[in-house]
Amino acid sequence: MELWYTEQHTDNVNFSLKVKNHLFSGQSEFQKLDVLDTYEYGKLMTLDGLVMVTEKDEFVYHDMIVHVPMAVNPNIKNVLVIGGGDGGTVRELMRYNSIEHVDMVEIDKLVCDAAKEFFPTISCDLENPRVNLLYEDGVKFVEESEDGKYDLIIIDSTDPIGPGEGLFTTSFYTNCHRILKEDGILVNQNESVFYEPNQDAAMKANSKLKKIFPLVKVYQACIPTYPSGYWLFGFASKKYDPIKDLDAAKWNELGIKTKYYNTDLHVGSFALPNFVKEFFENG
Ligand code: SAM
Repeated sequence: MELWYTEQHTDNVNFSLKVKNHLFSGQSEFQKLDVLDTYEYGKLMTLDGLVMVTEKDEFVYHDMIVHVPMAVNPNIKNVLVIGGGDGGTVRELMRYNSIEHVDMVEIDKLVCDAAKEFFPTISCDLENPRVNLLYEDGVKFVEESEDGKYDLIIIDSTDPIGPGEGLFTTSFYTNCHRILKEDGILVNQNESVFYEPNQDAAMKANSKLKKIFPLVKVYQACIPTYPSGYWLFGFASKKYDPIKDLDAAKWNELGIKTKYYNTDLHVGSFALPNFVKEFFENG
């Protein structure tokens, strides 16, 4: 009998992957976690039945959430990652010798444990000595952090339901702004606007960030296993413009080999289709 994983993207759209094996199922205090081995996308991790990461397309998400801010400010030394329990964001950050320290605040230890067991190519830097991994609520962590501490904050969160809800609030973003340095950058996964069920979260994140940061832009990437395959990230900054301040030559000199990101794509990823521009302008 064939086994299929199905995620409902809208009332009228389902996304399905043919599955070889159901490798793991566990329930934490926060969410249900499953690991499936699929034919097309390799291993897949779901939280409460929603795709978090697959071996085949994780490079797109992790390249875009890390290399975009890193190419804008090459002097980033101290980074805060909220969420990101699979380890992909930290893996990409660790490719920069200039980064001295990363605090990674993941609420759910089960996510990191499952990533270490089933996704070694993604979780490989969770134990890196430059990474301080804390199992805490990111909302509480930013409330209690001191002013002006970080060069970069990456919000690698789930959707705004369950434990991720507090990561889409004005008070959370206000604390992020406070604990960033004068030239700090914040990047978040900003959902998608293609299907109605994701639009509210996309708008919430963007409109709240705009009230707090002087410069807020949205950029895009193609991530096949996320709803609609068209995904957005937010870039919020106290000083840097993600295009005017991109020093492409400097980033290319680093010689970091990437599968998705390059500095031409960096510029193009901020060129949004009209329906996306209008969505955020009219919001
Ligand atoms: N790439 C993914 C996506 O866009 O679907 C996100 C993956 S990552 C696994 C999201 C992580 O955020 C999860 O491991 C979840 O436990 C964590 N998370 C959710 N709410 C959190 C909170 N309040 N504080 C810290 N981590 C949180």
